[in-house]
Amino acid sequence: MHRDCVATALIGYGRLSIGLVEKFARDIENLVAACFCPRCGRGPQGEWASASMATSDGCIAICDACATQETIVELSTGVVPPLATWPTLNRRR
Ligand SMILES: [Zn+2]
Repeated sequence: MHRDCVATALIGYGRLSIGLVEKFARDIENLVAACFCPRCGRGPQGEWASASMATSDGCIAICDACATQETIVELSTGVVPPLATWPTLNRRR
């Protein structure tokens, strides 16, 4: 993943404070580093085969189930679900 692309995608969502942008970027980074799917939290697994469409350059690898879900939503609504709405980031702790 590229930190800049992730930050740009999060800021582009337009509804997050800078603190939350930084927290979400860190959360994604930690999940990737621990080999979990950063979108749904599945894993750990060596490497995820699909690239998320949520960043401009597809720099975040996600699991097949998430990739399929992104594609279905994109086809039916014309919009890729934003990074900021990923289940892992919006989990209540
Ligand atoms: Zn996933």
